[in-house]
Amino acid sequence: MNKAKQFFYRILPGICIACGCRSHRTIDLCRACEQDLPWLINACPRCGLPLQATDEPCLQCASRALPFEQTIAAFSYAFPVDCLIQQFKNRQDLASGRVLARLLGQHIMRVNPGFLSDNDRHQGQTLLVPAPLHPKKQRRRGFNQSRQVASILAEIFKIKLDDKHLIRTRFTADQKLLSVAARKKNVTHAFTMRRAFNGERIILVDDVVTTGATVVEMANCLLRGGANSVAVAALARTPPARFSENATSTDDLPL
Ligand SMILES: [Zn+2]
Ligand SMILES: [Zn+2]
Repeated sequence: MNKAKQFFYRILPGICIACGCRSHRTIDLCRACEQDLPWLINACPRCGLPLQATDEPCLQCASRALPFEQTIAAFSYAFPVDCLIQQFKNRQDLASGRVLARLLGQHIMRVNPGFLSDNDRHQGQTLLVPAPLHPKKQRRRGFNQSRQVASILAEIFKIKLDDKHLIRTRFTADQKLLSVAARKKNVTHAFTMRRAFNGERIILVDDVVTTGATVVEMANCLLRGGANSVAVAALARTPPARFSENATSTDDLPL
């Protein structure tokens, strides 16, 4: 955090986005609420789902091919993170988005510090690519929530953000109204590349990964478009028990 922001917090102390009390630190979240968040500590490094035992990767990932190497999500999509993400996306509560994105940055540092900076193993440049919204949806919402998250990660980790290559070309129906099969069809070929990459390592940034269909679709598109490899960073990962709730607007289907 830069000096100007620290000064700002001294004058106007942070207000906790979860309980509304003074946070008493340079983030809008008090220490008690931070500890109570549904942190996703023991998760499969490939798909990001909670691990039942000590399997690594999880049993499903051990026998399937995915177009991305790793997934890191800071939280399980559970209370109060689900409410905070909905406020962020649907009520333009940018403070909640900022706090959650900073916590995702902290989480990455804690569980896999090389995730965003491992340039030795990955020859090409690392780029953060936010999950794109269709222009019509972005106009309606007023902003792209994944871009907000990606821009905070870019600031923390000093990595370039690229929101120009990957675009969403199909305006898809609201996933909430669709069956699982229809959801799969809904995101097929929804993305395209405006111009090609040149062997870069891509960190695809999404707000919530539900079942993974959208990130699979985007990762395939990025690889076809010249990316060397793809990894996924998300604020939250929906636990399988909540897949059928369609509680998020993230368009996904079971991997
Ligand atoms: Zn609090
Ligand atoms: Zn897995």
